[in-house]
Amino acid sequence: MKSRAKYTLPPEFERVIEILDKEVSVAVIRDVFLALYPAKAELKERIRSCEICLYVFWASYKNSLTCSESCRNALRQRKHRAKNKDAINAKRRENYQNRVTFNRQICNKCVIRENT
Ligand SMILES: [Zn+2]
Repeated sequence: MKSRAKYTLPPEFERVIEILDKEVSVAVIRDVFLALYPAKAELKERIRSCEICLYVFWASYKNSLTCSESCRNALRQRKHRAKNKDAINAKRRENYQNRVTFNRQICNKCVIRENT
């Protein structure tokens, strides 16, 4: 079996998730899934809570952690920022210094004050 095998949610169960999502936990939705589809017990792990928005979703792919394209991008960006925190902060500091230097150069009052 391919690791990227895609499983689609039984369409009628999509409604079940929609109805239950607001009220109950992933565990409860998984129990409902088990009760409805005992033959598909191994797929219950695919009912997950999105890491970004906490929305309960069906993971079409084994390694999906998020409910949608936009949450997937948000998660990737968070991971990138967490991993490269120091480099990003250094760049921000550098940009700030450049901005301050530039503003001093064009501000007449500063030029006068610094020259006097
Ligand atoms: Zn989401």
